[in-house]
Amino acid sequence: MTAKRARPVFDLRLRLLSSYLFLLIVTLGVIALALFVLIGNRAAPPEPAYERLAALTQGLNYIDFIADMPFDSNSRFLQGRIDELLDIFARTRSVRTLQIRVAPQGTHVIYDSAGVFQSGQRITLQRARYQDDRLAKVLTRGGEQFFGGFADPSGDEWVYGGVMYRQQRLQDRQRPDDLWLLAEPKPTISLQATLAVFSSALAPPLVQAGVVGIVIAIVLAALISRNIAQPLQRLAKAAIAVARGNYAVNVPASGPAEVRSVAESFNRMTAEVLAANSAQRDFLGNVSHDLKTPLTSIQGYAQAIIDGAADDTKAAAQTIYDEASRLNRMVVELTDLERLQTGKLSMRREPIDMRKLCQDVAQSLAVVAEQKDLSLEAKITPAPIVIGDGDRLAQALMNLISNALKFTPAGGAVRVDVEQAPDGVTVSIQDSGIGIPADELPRIFERFYQVDKARGPQRGTGLGLAIAKEIVESHGGRITAQSRGRGEGAVFRVWLPAA
Ligand code: ADP
Repeated sequence: MTAKRARPVFDLRLRLLSSYLFLLIVTLGVIALALFVLIGNRAAPPEPAYERLAALTQGLNYIDFIADMPFDSNSRFLQGRIDELLDIFARTRSVRTLQIRVAPQGTHVIYDSAGVFQSGQRITLQRARYQDDRLAKVLTRGGEQFFGGFADPSGDEWVYGGVMYRQQRLQDRQRPDDLWLLAEPKPTISLQATLAVFSSALAPPLVQAGVVGIVIAIVLAALISRNIAQPLQRLAKAAIAVARGNYAVNVPASGPAEVRSVAESFNRMTAEVLAANSAQRDFLGNVSHDLKTPLTSIQGYAQAIIDGAADDTKAAAQTIYDEASRLNRMVVELTDLERLQTGKLSMRREPIDMRKLCQDVAQSLAVVAEQKDLSLEAKITPAPIVIGDGDRLAQALMNLISNALKFTPAGGAVRVDVEQAPDGVTVSIQDSGIGIPADELPRIFERFYQVDKARGPQRGTGLGLAIAKEIVESHGGRITAQSRGRGEGAVFRVWLPAA
């Protein structure tokens, strides 16, 4: 089990690291591929091709010379011979030859050894600024050299070099000067050539840089994976500890923000579970203690009656009755409280006039006050309506007012005030009784808490205030207690929001 639980975190770290490395390798691969593709198709400078073509132009003047023969310029015979010569030239020198005529109606092809351009088809020549020195020396009497590029109708690109001789024409000849072009496919740098340059010059420093980069990337990836995985690992360990019942674990909040917030939530959760657990333990301790006292008393008196040892059997039976009633009360109140706290007790939601409610409760307790020789006074001023469960609110007020009457000695006074408060109604129950010491004040709303436990058989259960608090809070209200200390009386204030 344990080994199985520990593994996923290790896997996570490994998975993070391997995904970083995978990313790294893919990125490097894409870069390398892109480089090769781009470099492989890069256009090469055309100058070497121009130079080659310029060197090949010798021999063209001889064709030009034939073209200048004193035949009719439209002589098919003559053109046939020229085509043949251009064809042989192309085949023997592995170039493309073209005869181009620059005419006012447009530049067009007379002959193309590749057979792509038809005789008479237009051609667009891009001229480059290139001059071949050796060719310039050979070309005399107004001859001109041409270099540049053109595209076939199919889009294939070519570079060309050529000449126009401008021979001195015989007087009766109208033949225009033709442009003799030699062409070869536009050069690109081959991948092989690139690789050759790359491996000799660029590869060593690139490989060195790459190795350094990869090492740095691996170290960084390891650090990042650790940064994410380690806090998770700690969390997993802490979770296992909690599962085994050790709630006191605390995980340090470190790592990325998300992981930190998980750690913080985890710590909050364990703190709350811890608090809930100790409240549970306290409660169980209190219950068993508070049940034991009346039960011991009942057992004792019953035994005395059985043994005939009781002086006053009736008084003993009365004590047994009182204690049993108290136990009964306790069970009823505990059940009530449990249902209130778990929300199982459905609260009605109806408009309640707190003035009338307080008056009714005070009225019902007037007899108790009278018996104890206490003055019970209710001061009612206009107050807004609240929404809630009248019976439950009456129960809470009953607890508070009977406490005031219970903890005030004969001759004292209890006063109930109902008044408008910001956003609601305040009911305050003030007495001139025994008061509550300052250090006990914060605890009196706890279940079973009693300031003075030993107060005879008529003593309470310590649940009344807890129930009142639960009821008030389930109405969205607040309850507070104040006392200036022992013998100084006490004030309980209930605030409820207006409807
Ligand atoms: P109990 O059943 O003991 O009255 P409560 O929960 O109602 O239980 O009250 C808890 C304790 O708070 C009481 O035991 C008492 O010590 C103290 N207490 C409550 N109301 C007053 C008051 N008006 N004056 C002095 N002490 C009070």
